[in-house]
Amino acid sequence: MTVVVLSWGDAVQAGTAEALTLAARLAADSAAELHWAVTSGLEQAAAAIAGQYGVRRLDVIAATPGSTDAVVDALAAYCAQERPGTIVIDQSVEGRIVAPRVAGRIGAAVVTNAFEVARSGAALRVQATAFGGDTRVEYRIEAAQCVVCVVTTTLQAEPLAAAQPFETRRVELAAAAPRAGFEVVSAPQVQGHRLEDADIIVSGGRGLGKKENYELVKQLADALGGMWAGSRAIVDDGWIDSSRQVGLTGKITRPGLYIALGISGASQHMAGCSAAKTIVAINKDPDASIFRYARYGVVGDCVELLPELIRAVRA
Ligand SMILES: Cc1cc2nc3c(=O)[nH]c(=O)nc-3n(C[C@H](O)[C@H](O)[C@H](O)COP(=O)(O)OP(=O)(O)OC[C@H]3O[C@@H](n4cnc5c(N)ncnc54)[C@H](O)[C@@H]3O)c2cc1C
Repeated sequence: MTVVVLSWGDAVQAGTAEALTLAARLAADSAAELHWAVTSGLEQAAAAIAGQYGVRRLDVIAATPGSTDAVVDALAAYCAQERPGTIVIDQSVEGRIVAPRVAGRIGAAVVTNAFEVARSGAALRVQATAFGGDTRVEYRIEAAQCVVCVVTTTLQAEPLAAAQPFETRRVELAAAAPRAGFEVVSAPQVQGHRLEDADIIVSGGRGLGKKENYELVKQLADALGGMWAGSRAIVDDGWIDSSRQVGLTGKITRPGLYIALGISGASQHMAGCSAAKTIVAINKDPDASIFRYARYGVVGDCVELLPELIRAVRA
């Protein structure tokens, strides 16, 4: 049974190599072939790395979808035509939308928030997080086709020491021309580096009191050479852009150091930072949940402590 990774767009995304690594491991364990299906704009970029991840066949789908609806149309038509058993999608913002819709179109099972996949006889065992990242669950899938949406920030890319040869095949779709059903009128603004890749993140929450105090978070992040971020509460209040939100409905990060300032530690927030190597928290409330996760915790007023911290780091 084939394992296929689906990708689209015009550049290989951060996270694709990790998705290929997981898919290659599954294919090897289940004596299956690994295919990588890409829309035509990705052909060259995919061909440059496919061999490093044990891909046996690169399927180039004859489509250049210009909207999420069109991506779903093209990928669902491909999966219906080619009938791969396991379909792996990197859980990017768009991947999260595309995966369940592709599964729905072809009548396949779907698991999101996955971080490990293995075959067990006729069934697929998929490990994933659930309930806002609080719980780890294992699904046993017996459906003939399953779409697995993988949180690639939890994985490491493992290219082969020597690239292996693969076949490239052009796939014409029998499906009708796609029709756009909705249009994105505003998108998060991403400037420079990605939060998902940051080694140091300084994050602020509602405990900062007011938007002006968030400047202190930026100053500390700059002094440490890190990136600044925040909780959904302050995104909802318009203090920072949604591209800076950490958590279940924001970015899933895994920095070496995560500094949480005036953040309660709600499970939905921790889903985006609990994989950090070290969490440092400042919170006024000694019973705040964040202290259950923090290696170092300070019970105190972050607005008072921040200027001192910034001075100390700059010194
Ligand atoms: C479906 C769903 C998805 C969600 N997704 C996300 C997500 O992706 N990311 C996310 O962050 N949230 C998410 N949330 C919201 C989440 O549940 C919390 O409401 C949110 O994280 C709270 O943000 P906060 O900790 O900044 O604010 P609060 O909960 O208001 O906590 C403020 C904290 O600051 C402390 N404090 C107050 N004053 C000070 C001070 N001067 N100094 C130090 N500490 C102080 C308080 O003791 C408190 O612990 C989601 C919720 C739902 C239902």
